[in-house]
Amino acid sequence: MSLAAMGRDGLQVEAVPLSVLAARFGTPCYVYSRAALTAAYAAYRDALQASGLLDRALICYAVKANSNLAILNLFARLGAGFDIVSGGELARVLAAGGRADQIVFSGVGKSRAEMRAALEAGIHCFNVESASELDQLSEVAGSVGRRAPVSLRVNPDVDAKTHPYISTGLKTAKFGVAFGEAFDLYRRAASLPHIAVKGIDCHIGSQLLDPAPAAEAADKVLALVDRLAAAGIALEHIDLGGGLGIQYQADEPAPAAADYLAPMLAKLAGRREKLIFEPGRSLVGNAGLLLTRVEVLKHGEAKHFAVVDAAMNDLMRPALYDAWHEIARVGADTAATGTTTPEAMTYEIVGPVCESGDFLGHDRQLALREGELLAILSAGAYGMAMASNYNSRPRAAEVMVDGQAMHLIRRREEITELFALESVLP
Ligand SMILES: *Cc1c(COP(=O)(O)O)cnc(C)c1O
Repeated sequence: MSLAAMGRDGLQVEAVPLSVLAARFGTPCYVYSRAALTAAYAAYRDALQASGLLDRALICYAVKANSNLAILNLFARLGAGFDIVSGGELARVLAAGGRADQIVFSGVGKSRAEMRAALEAGIHCFNVESASELDQLSEVAGSVGRRAPVSLRVNPDVDAKTHPYISTGLKTAKFGVAFGEAFDLYRRAASLPHIAVKGIDCHIGSQLLDPAPAAEAADKVLALVDRLAAAGIALEHIDLGGGLGIQYQADEPAPAAADYLAPMLAKLAGRREKLIFEPGRSLVGNAGLLLTRVEVLKHGEAKHFAVVDAAMNDLMRPALYDAWHEIARVGADTAATGTTTPEAMTYEIVGPVCESGDFLGHDRQLALREGELLAILSAGAYGMAMASNYNSRPRAAEVMVDGQAMHLIRRREEITELFALESVLP
């Protein structure tokens, strides 16, 4: 939440005022802080170091949270591995300089082409989510003359106590292998000629604020690892997934990475397996914001609307999950019209898209002028990654601030690019 600090020229990220970024790159625009990204990664690394587990742990950034090449490259430089869910993400990680042998591949529906690409790249492990996937992977591996390294993603049937759309560890979820079936499936995997059993994986959901469900899942996973070892199937690594939540609202009790990991790390301390974590949101969420400009203020009979130039196609989380993002005035902005101080009102902050679901915030008490800048905070995760061209809107620019430097890491799309792949009938 605290990415932007108030400076003499209004809100700024590191040493750069947001008004300067808006003037240079336009709006809407995603802004990230290199220092904040680095600090979020360091929180995981330091927690592992303090537990004496760093030398056998791998932090695999979950690419789907934000897949910009500059962000992937920054994490690769910091030593991170990557958790991918598609062949597209594999290509991005490799293009960004990530190491193939530090990639784990999750997802319930990997295509044969994706399996082949990942085998040829030499990834660390496939997180297999069903019996059929195991058979298909074995077949594909055989056809390219390799053995596929696998973990089974087990579903521990614990309630992550998060939004139903981002809860993945219940029996009713499409994710993972049912806990009761995992043992037999491991035995089958161990018997397949083109499969090399490497580890176990579990990921119970996202935006988790309570460490207890993840610790409960870890207990179940460890019991299964021991049972497998007793049956002669020794696993090399244990992957406990991602899911740590971030603070979106001032009163939201998001734990620090060290506190969230502590109960899990305590259980892992005396063991010999390597460890993998797959954090996404907690590495990028609070290291990014969406900068937008107020187009018009519209005072309806029942509500006041601030129509801004960002919309649900730029940041889908409010429309998709009814998610709450802090929205702050940038201030000290020369483009705003009017000289008198406006009255604070309760605004609906909405975009120009033709959907009533196109809102970025409900009931925000703000004193606004047309033309002024707003910062939508905590937008680094599942923001740009979910952006679309709905309503034929070009996707926003992305900028990374590093001290006083500003780097354009994705230029704004041009309108002609939106239909460049289309053709009319002959
Ligand atoms: C999305 C996902 C993650 C990352 O989740 P966050 O809540 O962003 O930390 C990790 N592992 C898997 C398998 C995922 O699908």
